[in-house]
Amino acid sequence: MSFDYDLFVIGGGSGGVRAARFTAPKGYRVGLAEEYRMGGTCVIRGCVPKKLLSYAAHGFEDVADLAGFGFEASVTGFSWPALIAAKDKEIARLEGAYQNTLNNAGVEWFKARARLDDPHTVVMTDTETGEESRVTAAKILLATGGTPSLPDIPGKELAISSNEAFDLPELPKRVVVYGGGYIAVEFAGIFSGLGAETHLIYRGDKPLRGFDEDLRQFFLEQLEGRENLHLHMGRSIAGLAENRGDDLTVTLDDGSTLSAGAAMFATGRRPNTPESLTLGGQIETNAASAVVVDAYSRTSLPHVFAVGDVTGRLALTPVALHEAMAFVKTAFDDRPTAMDHSDVATAVFSNPEIATCGLTEAEARDRFEAVDIYRSSFRPMRNTLSGNPSRSFMKLVVDRASDRVVGVHLAGRDSAEMMQGFAVAVKMGARKADFDATVGIHPTGAEELVTMRTPVQD
Ligand code: NDP
Repeated sequence: MSFDYDLFVIGGGSGGVRAARFTAPKGYRVGLAEEYRMGGTCVIRGCVPKKLLSYAAHGFEDVADLAGFGFEASVTGFSWPALIAAKDKEIARLEGAYQNTLNNAGVEWFKARARLDDPHTVVMTDTETGEESRVTAAKILLATGGTPSLPDIPGKELAISSNEAFDLPELPKRVVVYGGGYIAVEFAGIFSGLGAETHLIYRGDKPLRGFDEDLRQFFLEQLEGRENLHLHMGRSIAGLAENRGDDLTVTLDDGSTLSAGAAMFATGRRPNTPESLTLGGQIETNAASAVVVDAYSRTSLPHVFAVGDVTGRLALTPVALHEAMAFVKTAFDDRPTAMDHSDVATAVFSNPEIATCGLTEAEARDRFEAVDIYRSSFRPMRNTLSGNPSRSFMKLVVDRASDRVVGVHLAGRDSAEMMQGFAVAVKMGARKADFDATVGIHPTGAEELVTMRTPVQD
């Protein structure tokens, strides 16, 4: 049977673009459909714009820190619209770069919404003209990502998600952020850092469930001291209602109310798996609507694969990229390759920044007979002069029997940059003795990680 394409990719985000652009140059005919903007969540309304806004959110704090170093400096103004315009320009540049990369690789791409009509037929609806076209493909890759998921509460249509937060015309004077995961704490840092009175509302006792407990506790204590940030832990939002002017009334589950210019819900994301993509269940999905895949990213239909957030594994861009590369080897190089999802380092660009790799203490205690913990919290050198009260936190989790460092947990300035190198060590199976044998770089914060000598006795 002959097909129009050897591979058709649905979704032009990190995973889809990576797979397409590495397959086409091997001489395969590759098509790709993206209904929105090329680059997907990460580039258009995720990691990249978020990091740009996070840089800006340090502005007021950094300038205040300068006084301790002898500068007479103050910020005389900040323009949210100027920041958003600069961000938009950079995102448009990156979108163009993604399109060029696909063109240069020989991928035929379409600005269209795609659905599957049968296991080998993709029907595209052109996003601009509404015209329909049908193509066939020998192999299909689902890389449709995820979308914000909002709880069903009265007035939820008045809430925004992170999608809209990136395009707010003005920075609200007061903003409510709902949730305690990555996106909630990152945006709480952005809004409060830029001067908005920010209320973080979370149903649990401290943010970042699933992260190491000591790290979470440290993080909570640091948030408690932050200017413009008000924490409402153990609280849920019962409803939203329109208020006079542009404001919203946010009612909490204890009956108290807050008035805010915007309420951003960061209550998780769900995979984009409409029925039109799953062929009436022929492509299996799980209870969380994620496409079920095997270790080789193969779905329940052997010629259909899926990578990235749509599979509900680890919703991180670099993971999608790795899955895509493994897919290309499996499907087109005749080298079945499974991505190893263990010890993936991750960072939360909150303030303070967090980075983590490997097991939490609780996970390690479950897995190993005896675990040693090394922990340190200190005032970074920079803050001795700046007077900034924020502190840093570091923790190593070590399996006593093998001496392997199985978890590294950091909070504080530059944690993400520090973690990348230590993630290599964890991935390689470095022992605590290897950390001890490594000479520190002085004076840095990171040297603390190779000079922690005494396990804590809790
Ligand atoms: P997360 O899963 O990280 O957090 C969702 C939050 O919403 C949790 O605190 C959860 O509470 C809360 N929540 C869920 N359902 C409800 C509900 N019905 N009512 C009230 N609260 C609710 O999701 P995010 O949306 O923040 O991020 C999605 C994923 O995207 C992340 O998990 C991460 O993989 C990725 N990401 C990565 C980033 C990075 O690498 N820096 C940045 C942003 C996103 P509870 O904990 O109690 O369940």
